Amino acid sequence: MALTSKHPETLALHAGWRADATTGSVAVPIHQTTSYQFHSPEHAANLFALKEFGNIYTRIMNPTTDVLEQRLAALEGGVAALAVASGQAASAFSVQNLARAGDNIVASTDLYGGTWNLFANTLKDQGLEVRFVDPADPHAFANATDDRTRAYYAETLPNPKLRLFPIEEVAEIGRKQGIPLIMDNTAAPLLVRPFEHGAAVVVYSTTKYIGGHGTSIGGAIIDGGNFDWSAHPQRQPLLNTPDNSYHGAIWTEAVKPLGPIAYIIRARVVLLRDLGAALSPFNAFQIIQGIETLPLRIARHSENAAAVVKFLSQRKDVVKVIHPSLAEGIDKERAQKYLRGGAGGLVGFELAGGAEAGKHFISGLELFYHVANIGDARSLAIHPASTTHSQLSAEDQLATGVSPGYVRLSIGLEHIDDILADLAQALDKAG
Ligand code: PLP
Repeated sequence: MALTSKHPETLALHAGWRADATTGSVAVPIHQTTSYQFHSPEHAANLFALKEFGNIYTRIMNPTTDVLEQRLAALEGGVAALAVASGQAASAFSVQNLARAGDNIVASTDLYGGTWNLFANTLKDQGLEVRFVDPADPHAFANATDDRTRAYYAETLPNPKLRLFPIEEVAEIGRKQGIPLIMDNTAAPLLVRPFEHGAAVVVYSTTKYIGGHGTSIGGAIIDGGNFDWSAHPQRQPLLNTPDNSYHGAIWTEAVKPLGPIAYIIRARVVLLRDLGAALSPFNAFQIIQGIETLPLRIARHSENAAAVVKFLSQRKDVVKVIHPSLAEGIDKERAQKYLRGGAGGLVGFELAGGAEAGKHFISGLELFYHVANIGDARSLAIHPASTTHSQLSAEDQLATGVSPGYVRLSIGLEHIDDILADLAQALDKAG
C-alpha cells in the first residue's frame, strides 16, 4: 500500500511498514541478527559494490532499524535517515560526515552540554575546529565563516534558555555558500519542522521524546533532500572528491540515480561502517513503539507544561519562569513563527531562595523523578547548578542560562492535578 498521508498521526503508525510478507505480523519484527545469507556470490559482490541495495551486516543496516529510519524520515519530511546508537553519535556523525582535520564548523553557543564537550574538546583534539557564536544574531554565523567552514550547527529549542533558534535566517546565509544547517530537534519533534525553514539535516537524540519512555538510548540523522551538495563542490570535498575507502567513489555522483541522498549514504557506508555506532535492533523496536504515540504525547506534554507555566507564574517564591510562551521581542516572534501545536514539555524556573532552595525543592519532590534526562513520559526535574553544570564557574553557569536557583522541569503525561500538587508541596517545603 502506498502511504499518501502527510498527517503525523498516520505516518507515526504506518510509515515504513505494513504487515510482514511471510508471517503477516503487524508489529514490526525485531530482527536480532548480525548477518544475512547472500543469494549467490554475485549477489554478495553487488551488495558490497553498492550496485544493489540489501542487507549485509547489522553494523550498517538492519530490517527493524530500516523501518525506524523510514518512519523518522517520513515524519520529519526528509528523504532518508540513519539511526545510530545515541544522540551523541548522531551529532558527531552529522559533522564528521562533512568536516575533517583542518576544517571548521560554526555552532550555536546554546547546546546540550554533551554536544558542547564533543565540539569544544573531542572534535578539537581531532583537528576539527568548532567556532561558537551567539544564536541571538544570525549574522554571527556569517562572520565566523571562512573557506574551510563545512556546516552550521544548532538546536531548535535549547535548554535551559528555551529560545527558538533563527533557523530560516541562518539556513539562508549558509545555503548561498554551500553550507548546510544541521539542526538538533531533540526538544521539539513535530512542533518545529526545520526542513520547512531551510535546514538541510536534522539530528535527534531518540532517547528523549521520540522513544518517550525512558527505556532506550538512540539517535538519528535525517537528510532533508533539499540541499544541493554539488552546487559548491569546493565547499564539500568529502562528498565531491574521490573516496579512497570506496574505490574512489564521488558520493554526489555515485548516488545520483537514487535521489539527493549523497550525505546520508556516506554517513552510513563510511562513518557507520568504520566507527560502528550501530543501534541495536531491540532499541530500534522500542523507539518505533514510542513513535507510534509521539503525536499524542507531544501534544499532552505541551498542554501539561503550559498549565505548569501558569501555576509557577502565580507563585511568590518563583522569581522567573522560562518557557517559549513567555518570550519577548524577537524571541517571541521566533517562538510564534517556528512552534506549531505546542511549545513542548520543558519548563525552567528560578527560585527566590537560590541554590539552597533549589536543592530543597528537588529533595521535596515525590512524583517527579530527579534525573538527568528529558522527554520521558514521566515528569522529571533537576537542579543544574548543583549537578549538570556544577563543574562550570558561577560566571560560566550564568552565561549558559543557569542561575543558582534555576530548576529544569521536563513535564510528563501524569494527570495535571497530580503534577501541580507535587510541585506545590515541594515548593512549600523548599520555603
Ligand atoms: N541533543 C540534545 C538536545 C540532548 O538533550 C541530548 C541528551 O540529553 C543529546 C543530544 C545526546 O543524546 P544521547 O543522550 O541520546 O546521546
